[in-house]
Amino acid sequence: MKKPKPERHPPKFKTTFLKRRAPDDPRLEALKSWCGVFHRSGLAPSYGLGSHGNLSFRVKPGGNRFIITASAIRLKNRLTRRCFFEVNRADLRTNTVSGAGVRRPSSESLMHEAIYRKRRDIHAIFHGHCPQILARAARLGIPETPEELPYGTAALAESVSAALAGGFFAVMKNHGFVCLGKDLDDAGARAVEMLGKALEKS
Ligand SMILES: [Zn+2]
Repeated sequence: MKKPKPERHPPKFKTTFLKRRAPDDPRLEALKSWCGVFHRSGLAPSYGLGSHGNLSFRVKPGGNRFIITASAIRLKNRLTRRCFFEVNRADLRTNTVSGAGVRRPSSESLMHEAIYRKRRDIHAIFHGHCPQILARAARLGIPETPEELPYGTAALAESVSAALAGGFFAVMKNHGFVCLGKDLDDAGARAVEMLGKALEKS
């Protein structure tokens, strides 16, 4: 039997599946459509087994639950509900994520959690890897984390959260960007606008 290829960026936390059921929410349609935009525009480039990016939205104002893309999904594919995970709780101290889904949540779930917890005004978080934005972060006036940190760690989550402060966009040094929004369309439009500005400066 052929051995499955290892994931390139497996989650570094433990996942507890409270329910083995794919999330169901009408906003998944908009999230899927932004996943497509991220793939086509190069905001979240593919790497073979997956895409360099993860997108989420908060389930209810005032709560910390959120729905996020699963680990190692390819944003270029036609996504179904099974490609998402509803995080009930992500604990940076114990390094565990629990919730409902059929696949493990994105390896950057701890970062999304840290931002939702701190920023009650934010209801969508999009993370991508875009060389043009990273290269022009300083010229575009984008705040950047001071040092490169390993992906998927609580340390990276804290560092990004601090770099964002009260803003909506930050670059994770030598890694990618994170873009926040009051809703999905707000976050998506901001990311696309930033890419446009980065290309103008090239
Ligand atoms: Zn990343």
